[in-house]
Amino acid sequence: MRRLACATLMMLALCACGLPTVTPTVTTGSPTPATDQFAEERERMVKEQIIPRDVTDPIVLQAMRRVPRHEFVPPEYVDQSYANHPLPIGYGQTISQPFIVAYMSENSELKPGDRVLEIGTGSGYQAAILADMGMIVYSIEIVPELAAEAEARLKRLGYDVQVRAGDGYYGWPEAAPFDAIIVTAAPEQVPETLVEQLKPGGRLVIPLGKQWEPQTLQRCVKGENGKLACENKLPVAFVPMVKGKSDDGRRHLRP
Ligand code: SAH
Repeated sequence: MRRLACATLMMLALCACGLPTVTPTVTTGSPTPATDQFAEERERMVKEQIIPRDVTDPIVLQAMRRVPRHEFVPPEYVDQSYANHPLPIGYGQTISQPFIVAYMSENSELKPGDRVLEIGTGSGYQAAILADMGMIVYSIEIVPELAAEAEARLKRLGYDVQVRAGDGYYGWPEAAPFDAIIVTAAPEQVPETLVEQLKPGGRLVIPLGKQWEPQTLQRCVKGENGKLACENKLPVAFVPMVKGKSDDGRRHLRP
């Protein structure tokens, strides 16, 4: 009944549903110790920001409880690591709000061992959540410095994620096909190459729209005929998914 009561997006935003009292444990391959000085903050984040907005997949909730988000934010923002908003990570980019990470993970409908491609590695946090959930994770980041930092951070924390510095519009053909693709920067239209790299039945979770204009988070499924069927899930605000090179070959992005 709680699901029904929270069924619409607006209601999700306003919903003050009760919280489950049981925390199921799921066996995945997380390298992260279950406790550190931020464990209570993570628990509060899950109970106050994520469960009330109807994210229920135990593997997602477990990952949100385990992955040390404070390791993925710059030192000056560590005290806000578990707050209900995005944070700057340099180069004009942000680490997404915790709820959005959980929501996109749940909407990818993954099961441990599935192959997932993330476009927009950023800090590496979303990739770490997917790795904690037991997925085989590939992630592409267009800002080479962010890609290198995220790769080193994920390695240091023990997450098995393949990171590539490059333009996500091309996807990762050698590692395709994927069970799901999560795009964490907003293009104006669905990139056709990404659809090609999805398995039939695969999910594409992607924000669409221009920066500073209304964007929507879409959940799409690739049919057996290769066509995408998309559902509009949430109003969102993501940084733009930029093209890697301009016509004269120069990079669009500078630190
Ligand atoms: N998922 C990240 C947050 C992503 S912010 C996290 O968990 O921290 C969006 C990221 O997408 C930015 O780092 C930005 O540089 C990157 N990006 C933008 N356009 C891109 C493209 N064409 N290919 C790959 N990455 C892109």
